[in-house]
Amino acid sequence: MKIRAAVLEDFGAPLEVQELDLAEPRAGEVLVRLVACGVCHTDLYTASGADPSGYSPTVLGHEGAGVVEAIGDGVSDVEPGDHVVTLFSPQCRECEHCHDHRTNLCLAIREQQNQGHLPDGTTRLSRDGEPIRHFMGTSTFAEYTVMPEIALAKIDPEAPLDRACLFACGLSTGIGAAMNTAKVAPGSTCVVIGAGMVGLGAVVGCRLQGAERIVCVDLSGERLALARRHGATQELLGGPDIVEQILELTGGMGADYTFEATGNVNVMRQAVESARMGWGVATICGVAGKGETLDIVPRFLITGRRVAGSSFGGVKGRDQVPQFVDRYLAGEIDVDSFVSHKLTLDDVNRGFDLMEAQDGIRSVIDFA
Ligand SMILES: [Zn+2]
Ligand SMILES: [Zn+2]
Repeated sequence: MKIRAAVLEDFGAPLEVQELDLAEPRAGEVLVRLVACGVCHTDLYTASGADPSGYSPTVLGHEGAGVVEAIGDGVSDVEPGDHVVTLFSPQCRECEHCHDHRTNLCLAIREQQNQGHLPDGTTRLSRDGEPIRHFMGTSTFAEYTVMPEIALAKIDPEAPLDRACLFACGLSTGIGAAMNTAKVAPGSTCVVIGAGMVGLGAVVGCRLQGAERIVCVDLSGERLALARRHGATQELLGGPDIVEQILELTGGMGADYTFEATGNVNVMRQAVESARMGWGVATICGVAGKGETLDIVPRFLITGRRVAGSSFGGVKGRDQVPQFVDRYLAGEIDVDSFVSHKLTLDDVNRGFDLMEAQDGIRSVIDFA
């Protein structure tokens, strides 16, 4: 079939919306009609050429939600008409990691996905007979996509898809960091540094876990106001003295849990140093630049602090994303306030401009 998609042709240049060919789903694969897709920092990172593992041409996009249109042989978990959220982090339910509660890093299709292929080593996207590679196994800046069944979370059809799409990446990453990675205990004190989509998700996660104090740190007063709306109990403007400020707020001890959601290695260090002696856990959510390292004075570790990191918040997507969507529908997560701009596919580059200008939290492409 012919589809319209936003193609990354050259790094650093705007995406080009073009007509491509999309082949039928093969065994274990699903054809999804996209209804909405968030524009995430990782898309911009790859488009800019900063990601050393990036390639072109490809169709970007990984924060998608849509409706199943057709299924390939052997697909049993979804059927046409189901509403789904796309998962760049799949869950095969069969590999060693899927069987272990300690990780969500499914091993089933990693290599092929990293190379831009579907699990059988080929692509369904092409242009004039020339194959076009998939991106993050999702390629959701497109009217339709073909994805493996193991990379789709079936959600309640009551959930508006232009909201549910945020659970495909940033929001779940933050919530999961608090729930799965740090395992925030009720009554605890948490610090979240960075109030973008992931940091705000971490604020939500800390609140859902029953944290008593949630201190949010950011450079923008507007974002801090949003953090309060999502459960932050105190806000601080970021800066070089943030560790001192947090120690002061916590009787000189530091927080039970700290979360870094900026990708800045200096902030990561602040997150470690503002975690509490004895049992403080610093969870690193941001993605640092290539070659950067995190400086930690070992004394902070020997006195009982731990550093944790996770990808996609440790979320096993097919199991946990539908649960998050249910909590959204139950009124526990205010997703609406994260959607700051609605765009058409043709406006996709404006989504990047808005992100670079730090205008709003999320731009969502509406395919309807
Ligand atoms: Zn993302
Ligand atoms: Zn697996």
